[in-house]
Amino acid sequence: METLFLVLYIAIGLFLVFLAIIILRTIIKGKKPETPEELPEIKLRDNVVERLSEFIQIPTVSQADYNVDKSQFTKLEEKLQKEFPLMYKNLEFEKIGEFGLLFKWQGQDENLQPALFMAHYDVVPAEDEGWDYPPFSGKITDKYIYGRGTLDIKQQLIAIFETVEQLLSENHKPQRTLYFAFGGDEEVAGKEGAEKIVKTLKERNLNFTFVMDEGGLYNSGSMEFLGDRLLGVVGMAEKGILFLNLTAKGKAGHSSQPPKHTSIGKLSAAIKELEKKQYPLRIGQTFRDLITALTPYAPFGIRILFANQHIFSPLLKKVFSKSDVTRPLIQTSQSVTMIKGGIKENTIPAKAQAVVNYRILPGENIEKILKRTRKICKKYDVEVEMSDLWPSNNAIPSCSTKTEQFARLDKAMRGLYPGSVTTPFIMIGASDSHFYTDLTENIFRFTPVTADSVDLNSIHGKNERLKIKDYKKAIRFYYHFFKSLDEKFTTEK
Ligand SMILES: [Zn+2]
Repeated sequence: METLFLVLYIAIGLFLVFLAIIILRTIIKGKKPETPEELPEIKLRDNVVERLSEFIQIPTVSQADYNVDKSQFTKLEEKLQKEFPLMYKNLEFEKIGEFGLLFKWQGQDENLQPALFMAHYDVVPAEDEGWDYPPFSGKITDKYIYGRGTLDIKQQLIAIFETVEQLLSENHKPQRTLYFAFGGDEEVAGKEGAEKIVKTLKERNLNFTFVMDEGGLYNSGSMEFLGDRLLGVVGMAEKGILFLNLTAKGKAGHSSQPPKHTSIGKLSAAIKELEKKQYPLRIGQTFRDLITALTPYAPFGIRILFANQHIFSPLLKKVFSKSDVTRPLIQTSQSVTMIKGGIKENTIPAKAQAVVNYRILPGENIEKILKRTRKICKKYDVEVEMSDLWPSNNAIPSCSTKTEQFARLDKAMRGLYPGSVTTPFIMIGASDSHFYTDLTENIFRFTPVTADSVDLNSIHGKNERLKIKDYKKAIRFYYHFFKSLDEKFTTEK
């Protein structure tokens, strides 16, 4: 009897210790970061909004086959030169290939490692239908600028130009060398723009303290418990991308005398099994960092889960896998995007084909996915090949949030929107920045404008638009952030 009590006491004791640890961690991890000072207002150049609208009106639409209207790209480049004369006069400018613009703003202190800022000047196509104002009208209303490229990503491109022009007009001389690299084919994989720029930078043995590209925004309404707080999300990692072609072959002929299994039947069976066998849920570094950043703002019950995410990871996986929006953050995704087979209602086709798109989490890779897909498809006599529709690449693993570079970005982000919360995340789409992995340890993918779910859907969709006040604040952000880079990082002499 006594031993039974002893065991019981020990069990209760251990449970209480466990509980104490959980609560203690919740208290420690629940501490909010210090609030930075708000970034002061600046006096903007005249007509910044009208100028952005004029750039929106130039339809620099990229096409996968590069069969584009080159005159629009030339027009945009000429307009940049005309509107930002100081930038072209004072910075070293090079045109790289046909779709790359590279600027170097020489810093005063050679010991400081340069930083590089990116954007792209191409946009995806848009038809007038379904828009309140035509997509290339650049219509300015009392609150918004409408048009293709207002969120992806001419606002970032032109805001950078406006900022540099303004700083130059104030005679600002940066301590740190700043590079600006802009591609004209990001929307079709960046082979002629970013990839060539990176090749040039590599030949010059350059290395950057960080590279900043388009990416997350200040999201509103994404987490109920954040209330009015904006969530400034920074892409710290990027999912890889892969397209596979599935091909089923079979006997062609009249539909009145079919074989037992047609090419379409085989292909469908393979797709059915692929969709049944989803990739495992996986909590990686960026997801852990995201949860950590949210912890102080979560209500107590959720805070317990977040602060002790290692213990509660099965529960977190369950919760985050419920929604199609959050599941891709913890899973290699698989989408069947195209299917083709048959041209006549009474004829069995010899061939049926499908395209499957994978977005790869760090930890998974192209080789493994190819092997797994082939194994499943083989059962149904379906061949699998990598597609050449889009270049494939593995995931770019997370860069660290525990660096001074990230801290400085975080300070500027929360300084622009006081009360906002900075959180890392993994980019589920591809950006040009993946070309830069050999040139820096820090790639930050962030665009300093706000967006709710409607705005996010307008990217590559209908009624893409930008709040005028957001655009002005974006310039304010770059203005102060560029200036803040004059200061050394402690790793620099
Ligand atoms: Zn973009």
